[in-house]
Amino acid sequence: MALTYSEIMVRYGELSTKGKNRMRFINKLRNNIKDVLSIYPEVKVTFDRDRGHIYLNGTDYEPVAESLKQIFGIQAFSPVYKFEKDVEVLKKAVQDIMTGLYRDGLTFKVTAKRSDHDFVLDSRELNLTLGNAVIDAFPDIKAQMKGPDVNLKVEIRAEAAYISHEEIKGAGGLPVGTAGKGMLMLSGGIDSPVAGYLALKRGVDIEAVHFASPPYTSPGALKKAQDLTRKLTKFGGNIQFIEVPFTEIQEEIKEKAPEAYLMTLTRRFMMRITDRIREERCGLVIINGESLGQVASQTMESMQAINAVTCTPVIRPVVTMDKLEIIDLAQKIDTFDISIQPFEDCCTIFAPDRPKTNPKIKNVERYEGRMDVESLVERAVAGIMVTEITPIEEAQDEVDTLIEDLL
Ligand code: ATP
Ligand code: MG
Repeated sequence: MALTYSEIMVRYGELSTKGKNRMRFINKLRNNIKDVLSIYPEVKVTFDRDRGHIYLNGTDYEPVAESLKQIFGIQAFSPVYKFEKDVEVLKKAVQDIMTGLYRDGLTFKVTAKRSDHDFVLDSRELNLTLGNAVIDAFPDIKAQMKGPDVNLKVEIRAEAAYISHEEIKGAGGLPVGTAGKGMLMLSGGIDSPVAGYLALKRGVDIEAVHFASPPYTSPGALKKAQDLTRKLTKFGGNIQFIEVPFTEIQEEIKEKAPEAYLMTLTRRFMMRITDRIREERCGLVIINGESLGQVASQTMESMQAINAVTCTPVIRPVVTMDKLEIIDLAQKIDTFDISIQPFEDCCTIFAPDRPKTNPKIKNVERYEGRMDVESLVERAVAGIMVTEITPIEEAQDEVDTLIEDLL
């Protein structure tokens, strides 16, 4: 008999400690899992108080498991076989399962549980009967109650019997969306996607804000930011992508301010606009990819000058990380290869050779006094374009590359 998994059982992580918020957490996690697994059309997801059930309906287990491993808020999951509720069928089932696992010296036990109390055997009798069936098939196998190599978990439910023997560790963290919403300032660089990933890990529902300055920046740069956003959807589901028209502001700054201050002024505008968008869309914080001392705009003095335009909390998840540590994470979350694609960002294009590392607020304000800051900000905010990024296009891309590889 060929055994195939019929469902995956999901155990919740930290959220089990969250008291009366529990149902809200569980619902978020269920919706996130549905978003992420939307690339598998046959898969169905249902959740109850204690755990989630992911019905495979014929879909291969392996890729679904790979997807699940990435989703924040899952503590562990187990693939499950489904059988008819019949003692003979179950005896054969445990023997078949052990055939795939058996090796010399293997220890095992059976842990049965029934929610259907009308079943002919109670849990103790099930443990014995099924344990003996395994020993009949493998006379040298050792039963061991404490820490066996294999724990065959048998569950008799109303509709069928279920057996699992494997528990796979999940990503931990909190379900995305349970901590509230934050605006991620997402460039096409290495750092901001990693910052987004770390915010997602703690349950922040991020919206990606990307500043584009066509024709100075190319459609390729925009697509890069969208592709990075899509990479982030695998941790907790769909993400709103907000493109901000930034050309007018960059031209204005270039015309009205000395070169050494371009960077500081540009960043202050980005911060103001992101904050305005945050307010309109009910976000609570701003998240960016600044890392202390990495470049001129990221000295403490620069951070202070840039941050001065808002009192909204600015979360900087990578602020104390070394570049190499950030790159390690970027590789782990598979954003690195996209980040290093050579498309010019709006900041690279207008970047001065020698930006100020110690900008003076007094000067900053003087230069901004030459511009109509408020209406520039308003026009940019009025011109935003919002799209929802889902994991699906990536699956399509993978299919396309597979087909290309075949040809
Ligand atoms: P990254 O690798 O994230 O681009 P970086 O080391 O290149 O970071 P900067 O270019 O100074 O650093 O940018 C600092 C932060 O400002 C970025 O991490 C990002 O959060 C934000 N930022 C920069 N450019 C943009 C942009 N075009 N759109 C949105 N946010 C941006
Ligand atoms: Mg950058």
